[in-house]
Amino acid sequence: MNVLAFESSCDETSVAIVRDGREVLSNVIASQISTHVKFGGVVPEIASRMHVEQINAVMRQAFNDADLKPQDIDLVVGTMGPGLVGALLIGLSAAKATALALNKPFLGVNHIYGHVAANYISHAELKPPFTGLIVSGGHTYLIDVDDFVHFELVGQTRDDAAGEVFDKVARKMGIGYPGGPIIDKLAYEGEDNLHFPRVMLEEDSYDFSFSGLKTAVINTLHSAEQRGDTLKHEDVARSFQDAVTDVLVEKAFRLARERGRDTIVLSGGVAANSHLRRALEERGDEASIRIFYPDLKLCTDNAAMIASAGYYLYQSGQSTAKAYATPNLGLK
Ligand code: ATP
Ligand code: MG
Ligand code: FE
Repeated sequence: MNVLAFESSCDETSVAIVRDGREVLSNVIASQISTHVKFGGVVPEIASRMHVEQINAVMRQAFNDADLKPQDIDLVVGTMGPGLVGALLIGLSAAKATALALNKPFLGVNHIYGHVAANYISHAELKPPFTGLIVSGGHTYLIDVDDFVHFELVGQTRDDAAGEVFDKVARKMGIGYPGGPIIDKLAYEGEDNLHFPRVMLEEDSYDFSFSGLKTAVINTLHSAEQRGDTLKHEDVARSFQDAVTDVLVEKAFRLARERGRDTIVLSGGVAANSHLRRALEERGDEASIRIFYPDLKLCTDNAAMIASAGYYLYQSGQSTAKAYATPNLGLK
């Protein structure tokens, strides 16, 4: 089954064609990062307008790369949320119009569900059940995944998302946007010598809180500035990143142990973080738990992951309303 997918929830315009949920025939991504970088974050109005400008060309390219014709498509899916509403509407309208024109079924897909499904593309052998750790620009979730369409939300952030805090700390440090990849790189040259807090919350809680850590980093930067000290950016990056990583790793392994899962699956933009990947793998070796994360290109927003999620939802006989709501994530 050939699935055509549209993703436009934030600042990537993406169209993909994926066969049977796992085989990527094309995955075209037009990123707007270079435009938003001068504002230090995504500007919703600009994002929507750029999606309008890009969407047709991106779709054409997706068909060209896959060497397929519109008639070869069996199912059309599109990200329905969460995301910026003006941005979402562009991809969603294009998806619905295409489904109508081709007389093919349409399914709306939850973006977070897509981030998890990126792993099905990168790892042909991966299937549920597993413990899921989703760390993206706007969300941080710990989930228990029973099968391809059922997630149990066990923990989430009570304030900032993991990716958001990377971006905010980087902005405060004045090192650029998006912060994640820059901090990832700087941290290699730094030491964890600033001892930022590891906020674990209540003993049995699977929730996260990163705003205290963010404030601690900002205060440390301010007091150094007032003392006329210069902190090494590398050390700030490393100390901050280690604090985030320790909490994520600890809670993911605790959940896997509690539920008797032998697999932890990482996803979302922060899954690109090389230190987080390594920390999970090291702990996984000790605990005999397998660790999966997507190929780098599939960590951040792309339509191939939406196609994969849409495929499994369709196979399970879900309607759009159910497909979107099933994961019960990001519906705040
Ligand atoms: P959401 O998926 O929650 O709606 P989003 O789509 O904006 O949010 P993603 O595309 O999942 O977010 O990821 C973008 C985020 O990933 C940014 O916050 C970025 O800083 C972060 N990120 C990207 N690469 C890395 C990295 N190497 N280390 C840490 N964070 C990273
Ligand atoms: Mg993005
Ligand atoms: Fe995303």
